[in-house]
Amino acid sequence: MKYTPAKPPLTGETLESLTARLRAHGEPAFRARQILDWLYKKRVRSWDGMTNLSKPLRAWLAETFELIPSSLVLRKQSEDVTDKLLLELGDKSLIETVIIRAPQEGVGVDQSRKTICISTQVGCAMACAFCASGLAGLKRDLEAGEIVAQLLHVCHREDERSPRARPELASFDNIVVMGMGEPLANYDAVIRALTIVNAEWGLGFGARRITLSTSGLVPKILKLADEPLGFRLAISLHGATDEVREKIMPVNRAFPLAKLIPAIRTFSEKHGRMVTLEFILIEDINDSLEQAEKLRDIARDLHAHVNLIPYNSVAGLPWKRPSLTRQERFADILRAARISVTLRREKGHDIDAACGQLRLRTEKERELTTAG
Ligand code: SAH
Repeated sequence: MKYTPAKPPLTGETLESLTARLRAHGEPAFRARQILDWLYKKRVRSWDGMTNLSKPLRAWLAETFELIPSSLVLRKQSEDVTDKLLLELGDKSLIETVIIRAPQEGVGVDQSRKTICISTQVGCAMACAFCASGLAGLKRDLEAGEIVAQLLHVCHREDERSPRARPELASFDNIVVMGMGEPLANYDAVIRALTIVNAEWGLGFGARRITLSTSGLVPKILKLADEPLGFRLAISLHGATDEVREKIMPVNRAFPLAKLIPAIRTFSEKHGRMVTLEFILIEDINDSLEQAEKLRDIARDLHAHVNLIPYNSVAGLPWKRPSLTRQERFADILRAARISVTLRREKGHDIDAACGQLRLRTEKERELTTAG
């Protein structure tokens, strides 16, 4: 399951690791900053674009590193609001990165706030019953450089759409680690990637604008609470009792609510920020008013924000989203208790924006073409 690329990607290097490589090659340390500046600030897409480096150095870099370890194979757009990038990796694996634009009054769509949803694994081992990403299990973890590269592809895409007012900044406002995969099951690569994204020599992107979402790996939540960078945390709860949660999320057997809830509390106390509880509403599975009451009690106890997400149907799975009235009744129980709650009118339904669906479809088409 471990993937070793032919050449390590530049996007997986830290200032320290790159400096060490360059030093060993007889180059001065300051070259590392120059190179990372070309990659993350000026955003060149070829070694030859790094014009203040000598030709022999550029040739050595090209032999030693992959500049960006993925290429864009498909882009799907939904009503100008959601863009989905399908990226192909060195071993032909496919991953997805989604750009979600929040339209704001009085400004064009290019000036709207942008949230980027990134993937951390190819497939997923968590086997949540409702999710497309886990249908075929886990293929492999992503490397740090493959995670970072998703954001560079987004920057390139956004830079093409509208010229950058502040070229040194990333071209988006928030990152959610909610794409394919369980980020805390690929802990080291994810933390390394987000460290690169956060660093001033990298994308310079604030840790407080990065949210990690987990299905509830308790020991890793506790580990994350001790990380020096203060990333935000979202928990995929989806069931307010063990009975309901266990039916749809196998992870609940190893880490039932009696273990998960105290871990969330620890995180939130150490971090000093509200944690988000995500709750997909699935008809007749977890949308009862009794579940709403239990969820209200958990959220109140944890002083957490609740994000209600109407279920996105997945081809081949029987689940459905509840009616709008039922969604509102569920939300009202939380609102009545003054819980901070959002009922997401999710974007990109029509382009398969729910996790893993575009990749799944493309893989199936590939199988068909190779079989035929
Ligand atoms: N493994 C992590 C992050 C990836 S999933 C986690 O579980 O949090 C990101 C979010 O999308 C999770 O809350 C997940 O439960 C949700 N999700 C998965 N399939 C969905 C679907 N079909 N409709 C709506 N949300 C879905």
